[in-house]
Amino acid sequence: MECVKCGHQNPDGQGNCAVCGLVLATIEQTEGGAVHPVYDRYVAIRKACEAAGGGGPMDAFKRFLDETSFKMAQKEQEIREIDIPPDAMDGLREELEVGFEGIDLYNQSLIQFRQFSTTSDPNFLRNGLELAWQGNERINEARRINRRNRALMEAEEPAGTEG
Ligand SMILES: [Zn+2]
Repeated sequence: MECVKCGHQNPDGQGNCAVCGLVLATIEQTEGGAVHPVYDRYVAIRKACEAAGGGGPMDAFKRFLDETSFKMAQKEQEIREIDIPPDAMDGLREELEVGFEGIDLYNQSLIQFRQFSTTSDPNFLRNGLELAWQGNERINEARRINRRNRALMEAEEPAGTEG
């Protein structure tokens, strides 16, 4: 099974990833979908880091960082524009808060990657990837809160309104 965090191919049935230690059981597919979704952004970051860390062109890596910074800023702006009514449930505030934490972690990872692009010190790449992973995990948490909020809202609707 391929590790979603580091990309290492582990033999089937292994408990933890041999390289990064992620508990692989958490990424097994279930009927409801992946238990441990990994978002495209993280995967794109990991691949770009692999290329740059493996001696790929630094110009391409820097361009990738610029594009990613731009997208993160856009995402943050989108969330900031969400109008939260004063009587909004705490769950909605929590969801947005956790979403911001995720974006912040991604932004911190980009700072590390920029350090790598000027120093070629692989420690910056490693630190940055760990921060990006934590960002991915916070976004996962925000999605979980979002699903819980939706379930709560549906439960509040009066019976018999459907169909
Ligand atoms: Zn791994």
